[in-house]
Amino acid sequence: MDVTNLDVKCDSCGIIVNPKGPKHTMLYGFAFAIVFALFFGLFIGGSIGIATAGLGIAATIPLGILGAYFGYKIGSWLAGILDGVSCPECGHYFG
Ligand SMILES: [Zn+2]
Repeated sequence: MDVTNLDVKCDSCGIIVNPKGPKHTMLYGFAFAIVFALFFGLFIGGSIGIATAGLGIAATIPLGILGAYFGYKIGSWLAGILDGVSCPECGHYFG
């Protein structure tokens, strides 16, 4: 469940708000997506390619997409931990 979809009462200002998500979700998400896409696509795909003499080339693209997907998930999750979720009224961070 995503806390940004819920209305919560802010501890600091007492207003019922819909918390803002982390500021840099997209930034972290994309950074990790690229790293994971390269890792899965090139490193694992490349290793399979060497082992199977060419079959791995076909596996590189789906592995890269998979890597990008999980990288984005992990990046967004990390952004939530590092940046936190804040109150749009007063900027108070929710635990
Ligand atoms: Zn507040």
